[in-house]
Amino acid sequence: MQPTATVFNIQRFCVSDGPGIRTTVFLKGCMLNCLWCHNPESKSPAPVLSLAKQLCTGCGECIRVCRCHSFADGMHVINRSACTACGECTQVCGGALEILGREMTAEEVLAEVMRDEPFYRSSGGGLTVSGGDPLYHPAFTLQLLQLAKENGLHTCIETSGFTRWEQLEAIIPYTDLFLWDVKETHSALHRQFTGVDNALILDNLRRLDGLGAQTVLRCPLIPGFNDRTEHLHAIAALANTLNHVQRIDVEPYHPLGMGKSEAIGQAYPLAGVNMPGNTTVDAWISEITAHTSIPVQKA
Ligand code: SF4
Ligand code: SF4
Ligand code: SF4
Repeated sequence: MQPTATVFNIQRFCVSDGPGIRTTVFLKGCMLNCLWCHNPESKSPAPVLSLAKQLCTGCGECIRVCRCHSFADGMHVINRSACTACGECTQVCGGALEILGREMTAEEVLAEVMRDEPFYRSSGGGLTVSGGDPLYHPAFTLQLLQLAKENGLHTCIETSGFTRWEQLEAIIPYTDLFLWDVKETHSALHRQFTGVDNALILDNLRRLDGLGAQTVLRCPLIPGFNDRTEHLHAIAALANTLNHVQRIDVEPYHPLGMGKSEAIGQAYPLAGVNMPGNTTVDAWISEITAHTSIPVQKA
């Protein structure tokens, strides 16, 4: 049987998920639970109903279709515990309701990715598998990367690295570049911010580097959480211990996850945290750059 994964977005013409023009495939399912997750809809592997309240006209058609919908004090309420994400209500809605997540095989995904093959060839781009975490679906991801390489595509994977080494090792021959998250260098804080310890992640990164795999370290920086000077220095120190880091990307906090959380009926833990300004981001980059010769840039 073909392995499948729950795909919640296939985004074409991406220019910041690896070199050139790329198609980024977002899978649902993640081993972590980051406070600042910008794709909260990707944490669970199951499809989920999303309600864009700003698009709801209050027509009431969804209430006619399913008892999970109701209005209370002018507010549209969804009984999430009873919703099976069957999608029937989306059929009668003008665009406010949407099911996020569709089970697909790697061959189905690749067929969509190959639509933009000429752009990959002219720009040096290709396929990026993201999430969630692609390694939540190791068999699917392995097959997708294998198919992409068979078709001559450049391949990237974006991962937290929190996975069994064997799963990571299996995809190395089919992955040209690992976009590797460095969320927090302090072990206890990593657990506090993401729900898991970083020991396995760091061990996997060192083993990966030892085998010559190319990486870009991607560092989300969240004001008041992990923008400490010692963390910035530790990012540089970590990169300096590795031999195949092409670049360090600083990913300044943005509150994109807030609206997405609301749309799927989840609380957003970082409400009230502001986006850092350019001066702050430049200072972060300077602080890292001062301690490494590896290029550092804003993602
Ligand atoms: S069917 Fe759509 S637009 Fe109408 S009330 Fe339901 S969510 Fe709103
Ligand atoms: S997705 Fe299905 S179960 Fe969920 S609210 Fe819509 S019709 Fe009801
Ligand atoms: S690893 Fe990425 S997808 Fe998973 S919870 Fe963290 S930010 Fe979200």
